[in-house]
Amino acid sequence: MSFPVDPVALSQALIRRPSVTPADEGAMDVLQRALEALGFACRRMKFGEIENLYARRGTARPNLCFAGHTDVVPVGDVEAWAAGPFEAEVRDGVLYGRGAVDMKSAIAAFVAAVSAVDVAGSISFLITGDEEGLAQDGTKRVVEALAAEGEVIDHCIVGEPTSAARLGDMIKIGRRGSVNAWIEVEGRQGHVAYPHKAANPIPVLIALLARLQARVLDDGYEGFQPSNLEVTTVDVGNAATNVIPAMAKARLNIRFNPAHKGAELVEWMEAECRAAGEGFDGRVSLKALVSGEAFLTREGPFTQVLAGAVEEALGVTPELSTTGGTSDARFIRSLCPVVEFGLVGATMHAIDERTPVAEIEALARAYQRIIERYFERFSS
Ligand SMILES: [Zn+2]
Repeated sequence: MSFPVDPVALSQALIRRPSVTPADEGAMDVLQRALEALGFACRRMKFGEIENLYARRGTARPNLCFAGHTDVVPVGDVEAWAAGPFEAEVRDGVLYGRGAVDMKSAIAAFVAAVSAVDVAGSISFLITGDEEGLAQDGTKRVVEALAAEGEVIDHCIVGEPTSAARLGDMIKIGRRGSVNAWIEVEGRQGHVAYPHKAANPIPVLIALLARLQARVLDDGYEGFQPSNLEVTTVDVGNAATNVIPAMAKARLNIRFNPAHKGAELVEWMEAECRAAGEGFDGRVSLKALVSGEAFLTREGPFTQVLAGAVEEALGVTPELSTTGGTSDARFIRSLCPVVEFGLVGATMHAIDERTPVAEIEALARAYQRIIERYFERFSS
């Protein structure tokens, strides 16, 4: 079966735009032209230097949104690639290029799917050029702007590469949240032979990290792994054998399930830092950044539509999973239920990122079936 819009040709056109975050290099124009040809009203929403696009066809509800990003991570060592990272070459039925998996081909597959359907309701695209970077001027700001206008999105599918070993074997219905923290313990430098004249920050930092690590955050949450705190570095950098250093630093990351809110974890760490500083002739400070809250789209009619359509189109029963890192779904969750489904992620961010052409076409068929089933189920 072929589509009015060829998903492989559109993937290639997108990959040929070297849109390494924050550059766009015309990638959004390629997409906008394809969508306008299908009758979409396109709005460019530029924030800072970032190109974003919100496109919608139809005005009625329900509004099913596809979300994704046209930006890609850097290519690394160009010489190490078997085919040029932005040439979008097909070799033996495999498309090579940065973005082939994460996630230009998924965008193209959804456009192809849309080109083959006519629905009672609306289909929209929320596409950013800032997912792989800071993600400050991307989906986050588009979602804020759409919410302020009262734009209604009923359900959203993010096209991240969620399949594990085989196309269709995994759909993500939630993600853990993430918080990073930087701890500094500042004491007073001195001679190791005269410790009473110094204030060694290292024992304070060790005891503090031990207390933070000792807390069992939870035993898991509805299909989520237990939350986990991981110390990622401890730095003193003291080259001398006879000096008590003035400063000891550490960094940690917590991946947390919906049993926690980022702000509560930060408050807890701040309290532990205050306690660690009691009686210490120095300063214990913490800087923390919540990069995303945890979310879960509970199993129900929407996830059933997804799973059923994937099974029908691909002959694979998808696992509904909450594993993996964060994605822009963390911002969209404030608008509507959101899930993620896309290609096999094996080569994403790697040298020789690639995907079989047949899998791009199969993904387009799966998206088409999802769209059809969705409107059968949710159109009134
Ligand atoms: Zn991605």
